[in-house]
Amino acid sequence: MKFISDELAELRESGLYRELRTVDGPQGAHVRLAGREVLCFASNDYLGLANHPKVVEAARRAMDTYGWGAGASRLVCGNMRLHQELEERIARFEGTEAALVFPSGYMANVGAVTALIGVGDLVLGDKLNHASIVDGCRLSGAKFRTYGHGDVKKLHRLMARRPHYRRAMAVTDTVFSMDGDLAPLPEITALCRAHDAMLMVDEAHATGVFGETGRGLVEHFGLKEQVDVTMGTLSKAVGSVGGFIAGSQDLVDYLRNKARTFMFTTALPPAACAAAIVGLDLIEQQPELRAALWRNVQRLTEGLNALGLVRGEGRSPIIPVVLGEPKTATAFSTFLLNDGVLAPAIRPPAVPPGTSRLRLTVSAAHSAQDIHRLLDALSRALRQLPAVNPCEGCRPSQGCAGPEDDDED
Ligand code: PLP
Repeated sequence: MKFISDELAELRESGLYRELRTVDGPQGAHVRLAGREVLCFASNDYLGLANHPKVVEAARRAMDTYGWGAGASRLVCGNMRLHQELEERIARFEGTEAALVFPSGYMANVGAVTALIGVGDLVLGDKLNHASIVDGCRLSGAKFRTYGHGDVKKLHRLMARRPHYRRAMAVTDTVFSMDGDLAPLPEITALCRAHDAMLMVDEAHATGVFGETGRGLVEHFGLKEQVDVTMGTLSKAVGSVGGFIAGSQDLVDYLRNKARTFMFTTALPPAACAAAIVGLDLIEQQPELRAALWRNVQRLTEGLNALGLVRGEGRSPIIPVVLGEPKTATAFSTFLLNDGVLAPAIRPPAVPPGTSRLRLTVSAAHSAQDIHRLLDALSRALRQLPAVNPCEGCRPSQGCAGPEDDDED
């Protein structure tokens, strides 16, 4: 199997080889890595709930009653009381008739997209959509076209093809996972309504973060009635694990019967459901967590602006510092880690070529002092590392559209 060693050598040569780092102990603003404590600006645990005492206690209590494993798929005998309670809790949280839980957000996207569209249909997605959406679109057998990042004019043009297809769907991240910027949801919903296309939104990075009550970007824009399929994950601000689809009872009944990533996999451990229920409760009961998060977004973006690393306001807790080539991003990341700050380099294929970056994420659990420490370390990196060439034409903190014309068929 020479191709394996050849390709590994190529990855190493181009700075794209990936290795794992091991965290000893719980997630949080500070984590234990290789025997020392470092500051973490890499996690999606936006509200600090992954190690919240109430979340941990809920999981522990559930294990006393239900044990750990679910033993089978939901449709066989793995559907336990807590799965049911979690789905009811999500539906109440989202204000929808029903919800369906999947073992991960990735599986929720792949399962829902492949169930809702297929051969003879059209699916349109933002070029920077999450890999799980892209994989669902590719697997579906539908005609799959992408539009440039946030380019509603291009989406409009693509929608003109709608009459040639049986069904059509637009699907978008609401907060983009690597750029932290926001989808133009009002325009996208209007186009979907005008062209009789379904709209699916992925609120993975918006749940618990956006909206008056933390329901997400759809709440922020007041568009709840316009969205057909809401996808969310329990693994980020909610602090647990698992993904979900929320919507009408018919939608949920349909996916329970058609979504292969729901049907053919073992159910989540019930204790993970108990933890997610408490995570959702905390999002509702403690709006001060969201307020603290947004204060930290502002603190960090002000500091990054002062260093010249980003321009403009932070749109979300995900703040990319685009550095260009993979080796530059890795050099920054290594420098920061030696300085006690974990901020991994994000490289292709997670982001378009030429836009390797530090993807900084901030949480409600960071203190003002934590943020100052990060900014100090970045300022030292800027002084000590070779000159940075930010991605040409790319506006850090405002996303990078990437190439425009490699639409998928
Ligand atoms: N959608 C988006 C936009 C994401 O960023 C992610 C996670 O990285 C997912 C879906 C998948 O969610 P999960 O990690 O729960 O599988």
